[in-house]
Amino acid sequence: MYLYETHLHTCQGSLCGRSQGREYVKAYQDLGYDGIFITDHFYHGNTAVDRALPWDAFVDGYCRGYHDAREEGEKQGFKVFFGIEEHFAGDEYLIYGVDDAWLKSYPGMKNCTRAELYREVHAAGGVMLQAHPFRDRDYIKGIHLALGYSDGIEAVNTANRPGDNLLALAYGKKFGKVMSAGSDIHDVKNVRSGVGAIGFENPLRDEKDFAARILRGEGPTLVYDKAFFDGAEADLRLPVEEYKEAGSVPISHQEVLSWLKEVSL
Ligand SMILES: [Zn+2]
Ligand SMILES: [Zn+2]
Repeated sequence: MYLYETHLHTCQGSLCGRSQGREYVKAYQDLGYDGIFITDHFYHGNTAVDRALPWDAFVDGYCRGYHDAREEGEKQGFKVFFGIEEHFAGDEYLIYGVDDAWLKSYPGMKNCTRAELYREVHAAGGVMLQAHPFRDRDYIKGIHLALGYSDGIEAVNTANRPGDNLLALAYGKKFGKVMSAGSDIHDVKNVRSGVGAIGFENPLRDEKDFAARILRGEGPTLVYDKAFFDGAEADLRLPVEEYKEAGSVPISHQEVLSWLKEVSL
């Protein structure tokens, strides 16, 4: 099986990133991965780039970590793919299948809604996966599930509490979403096996190929150490709602917890 990291931050693109793009290449290559997606925090997230810059310059700054990793990957014969992580109101989305030229052509992304972004990403042949949908952290005030505005979800994010991932897996199973797994890594020192990854029997050619497979419903195999879930319990505290363009709809905790019956690890 060909393994890929789907969720990775560099210090060039993400304020919370600790390592340069190029540093990740050898680390993942040594673990036997076939490639990595660089998904730095974009405009509304914890970006490392000055938001006051003109749009094109902002995008160039944002893509620096990716290009750095990509250059190193080309030297070492290792695949480096582009991705984006954008933030709304505690809910974040991993976008795959677009590139920096697309970002430059879409300055409206600065002020778009989730639904608008979803339409634009699709029009470009890309996909939008909701990252860690049940993450519970201090900066998150509520859970917004973009059921109709996502092509899939990150069901296993090993930077999350295991119980939050149980809820994400339950949500994915309940609604038949394509699921992915990633480590949400910010520091090359933390590269190790057993954290979230995806696997495919046939190698990915590029980020467009990944997006096309997701659009065809050919989701990847989720690869993670099952021990991560030992003793995990869903501890749902935040209010949950389904995001809809016309206005969000609350979902009771009781209903969300009832989805857990469908989870198998
Ligand atoms: Zn971060
Ligand atoms: Zn992230």
